[in-house]
Amino acid sequence: MAFRSFAIRTFGCQMNVHDSDKLANLLLHAGYAAAEPDDADVLVVNTCSIREKAEHKLYSDLGLLRRWKAAREGRLIGVGGCVAQQEGDALLARFPQLDFVFGTHNLRHVPAMVRAAEAGQRSADVSTSRSLDRFDLPERHPQFEASTPGRAFLTVMEGCDMFCTFCIVPTTRGREVSRPADAIVCEAEDLAARGVVELVLLGQTVNAYGRHDVRRGHASSNGTMRFSALLARLAAIPGIERIRYTSPHPLFFDEALVAAHGDLAPLCPHVHLPVQSGSDAVLARMRRRYTGDDVRRLAESLRRARPGLVLTTDLIVGFPGETDAEFEATLRLVRDAGFVDAFSFKYSPRPGTPAAGLPDAVAEEVAQARLEALQAQVRAQTLAYHRSRVGGEADVLIEGRSRRAQQLAGRDPWHRVVNVAAEHFPDVAPGQIVRVRIAEATPHSLIGEPDASAGAHPGSRNLPVASVPESGFASGAVAIRR
Ligand code: SF4
Repeated sequence: MAFRSFAIRTFGCQMNVHDSDKLANLLLHAGYAAAEPDDADVLVVNTCSIREKAEHKLYSDLGLLRRWKAAREGRLIGVGGCVAQQEGDALLARFPQLDFVFGTHNLRHVPAMVRAAEAGQRSADVSTSRSLDRFDLPERHPQFEASTPGRAFLTVMEGCDMFCTFCIVPTTRGREVSRPADAIVCEAEDLAARGVVELVLLGQTVNAYGRHDVRRGHASSNGTMRFSALLARLAAIPGIERIRYTSPHPLFFDEALVAAHGDLAPLCPHVHLPVQSGSDAVLARMRRRYTGDDVRRLAESLRRARPGLVLTTDLIVGFPGETDAEFEATLRLVRDAGFVDAFSFKYSPRPGTPAAGLPDAVAEEVAQARLEALQAQVRAQTLAYHRSRVGGEADVLIEGRSRRAQQLAGRDPWHRVVNVAAEHFPDVAPGQIVRVRIAEATPHSLIGEPDASAGAHPGSRNLPVASVPESGFASGAVAIRR
């Protein structure tokens, strides 16, 4: 019996979202069609284990999926991602409804595992390797639908050698491996030829790209280079108007990377810089290898290189032993570095990490109160920044309709969500860039309107300017590019 359709449920980070895209592309090439979960024959759950909550969600989901599987004969369930990497065979033993389990290095083997499952063979493959084979994937299938037209993720490196004490990623994703620059540029050129205008470069420590090769003098033989040099190559590709990268580690910002933010016009004036804490003592216990002042200096250098650059971050509160004074150091750093937004979480121990064995757990109610205080400060900083943008211009990459269907929603170069009334842009489709004037600030987003006569936002100096309206524009005042 041949199975014909698949659906993928994704949890976790952008790396996982991108892995799901790669998997969908592989299954399309193998002759399967994409479907909604209710209609699919094969359901793949791509898991995350960065937080305890995400892992528990998988287990409760697998319970519910038993009914999904029973509803149609011959349905298959597969699990991939970080939980699969950690648990391997144990998942098959624990959940009889599971048919296959694949690790983070084994996406390419999934079509064969599905076929084996169709023939009644349950299997798990969580083998790891440092080989570059895992990056050899087919080009986009004609039926592949990008979640955001105009934008594409592009893996430049995988894995992590940093071993922060709270993090399971080095175990689930393996050691750092960087792709040869030529392969990355080739993929980027192909994406640009298919209408992609924004590249989001991915890696667990993306700005560590090529560092081992550069340090050992092996960069030219292995085809890698400094991250800043890779950015320069990608910025030169015709059609690529925006480049972002995530997630960088504060330690790997060398002078050339900071300077690139001033020199390369397509490099967006936004850096998501995970700092985790502002306390030097907590940072040492986390083994982050920088101090709060290192972050302050880096923030200043980046803004000097690119005035108006926006910084956002990730923060953990309630790390073992965190005192009130150490938490206040985090509040101070958030203020001093001027973070515009943050993902913030209460620490949750991950089995298998050194921090899971640390004494002096912070009481739940204390961690909750700290989280609320931190989020209140971040909200205030976000709103203040949004208000500072009113009256300026922004080029918005339209992603789709916002929850209220009469609005189009997109992101500006500073990675802020901008909503615009759809009636003003009747001919605009997702994937197009429109220039708007920021008319209003809300706590979560900006409201744009079609007015090209507004003064430029300070950070927009390096952006290409669409000054001459061309035919086909929705209105004379709105420049739609590409
Ligand atoms: S650098 Fe990031 S991915 Fe690597 S161990 Fe630390 S937190 Fe985890």
